[in-house]
Amino acid sequence: MAQFETVPAENTYDVVIIGGAIMGASVAWFLAANPVFNGRVLVVERDPSYRNSSTALSNSCMRQQFSSEINVRISQFAARYVTAFREEMGDERVPDIHTHFFGYMYLAGSEDFAAHLQKTVSMQAKLGAGSRIMTPDEIAQAYPFYRTDDILLGAHNLRDEGYFDGGTMFEWWRRLARERGVEFVSGEVVGIEVDAGRARAVRLANGERIGCGWVVNAAGPRAAQVASMAGRALPVEPRKRYTWVFEAERPLDRALPLTIDPTGVHVRSDGGYYMAGATPDHDPAVDPDDFAADHSLWEAKVWPVLAHRIPAFEAIRVVNEWVGHYAYNTLDQNAVVGPDDEVENLLYANGFSGHGLQQAPAMGRGLAEWITTGGWQTLDLSPLGIDRVRRGVRQDEAAII
Ligand SMILES: Cc1cc2nc3c(=O)[nH]c(=O)nc-3n(C[C@H](O)[C@H](O)[C@H](O)COP(=O)(O)OP(=O)(O)OC[C@H]3O[C@@H](n4cnc5c(N)ncnc54)[C@H](O)[C@@H]3O)c2cc1C
Repeated sequence: MAQFETVPAENTYDVVIIGGAIMGASVAWFLAANPVFNGRVLVVERDPSYRNSSTALSNSCMRQQFSSEINVRISQFAARYVTAFREEMGDERVPDIHTHFFGYMYLAGSEDFAAHLQKTVSMQAKLGAGSRIMTPDEIAQAYPFYRTDDILLGAHNLRDEGYFDGGTMFEWWRRLARERGVEFVSGEVVGIEVDAGRARAVRLANGERIGCGWVVNAAGPRAAQVASMAGRALPVEPRKRYTWVFEAERPLDRALPLTIDPTGVHVRSDGGYYMAGATPDHDPAVDPDDFAADHSLWEAKVWPVLAHRIPAFEAIRVVNEWVGHYAYNTLDQNAVVGPDDEVENLLYANGFSGHGLQQAPAMGRGLAEWITTGGWQTLDLSPLGIDRVRRGVRQDEAAII
């Protein structure tokens, strides 16, 4: 892959995308592939190694089990898109995307959460998702390794839920977008000039001033910083999320669904290993450069939960661990997508919290439609617009991990 230049070739672009990880690359690709669009696109990325991006530190799973219709529809598109990736990209060189649909299993330990799962599974079923409610006996029969005596029910789905190789999708979006003329540069946007309700130019740390027709905020956990450059507020902050990969002395005899324990700890199969994740009990906004680990979390919280839920996990050994950042939307942990309410050519692709990788295909497609036609075409993303944020109306999504 060719290195990124540090100085853009032009001094004005139809679209400037701030952040070149999965969201920025998706918008760039869907624009480049759109037959109606023939503008110039610049993607500015402050760290082309992507080392600390949420995209690189993701667990790369998708699920249909969301609480809101819009999120189910977004992931249904992701599943269709990922399983037909080469066809979607229209290029024989593009590989298949590896998937392992071991399913998700939400376990309810309280009446409230059980009622919630029953309601959401019935909504998902209406939309054609394969989710169903399982009794503790049914769970024990299908997956004998779980402890179920403190479980009221589970919500389970094996269709289009599990791991997908988001890294390959990212690479090919970037590669083919560049082949079609999208320019990626290494640099940091430090300012956005706004005049009469429109973003006119972005300023880079190296002093370049780049005129723009549209600006897309795809800055992940730094989204609020970028919005504030245009004088706009966005309730998105970096929050730490921890991942552990471990091996078990006695591996399970079948694939482990991505299991969400009532404590919030989650665990799944990961090839011959297992992958667990958790939210710390104390969960403040952090500095976007702070990736320090909290080693006590594994021993004090995660391992005991795993060993309780799956007794075979008493004897396990951590082989890898890392800390990543969610771009955490403090209002409702859901995406903010589409135009700003005052700076009309500033578009958001932000606040994805823990489900942005699977939402990237629908976001790129949607924003490319917005830029080319001025509206949503294939899927109405307006429930995820900035409007709800300004009014403080939550887009409810209880099934966040
Ligand atoms: C531990 C963990 C597990 C996850 N698991 C899943 C999962 O299983 N499934 C799922 O769907 N999602 C998951 N997610 C969420 C998903 O990874 C993110 O929602 C998604 O990667 C967000 O992509 P992004 O492009 O918006 O942000 P990022 O990947 O963070 O990219 C933002 C980019 O913007 C650049 N940038 C920022 N500011 C500037 C600037 N001023 N100028 C230029 N460049 C800038 C950054 O350098 C960065 O490369 C997980 C996230 C984490 C942390």
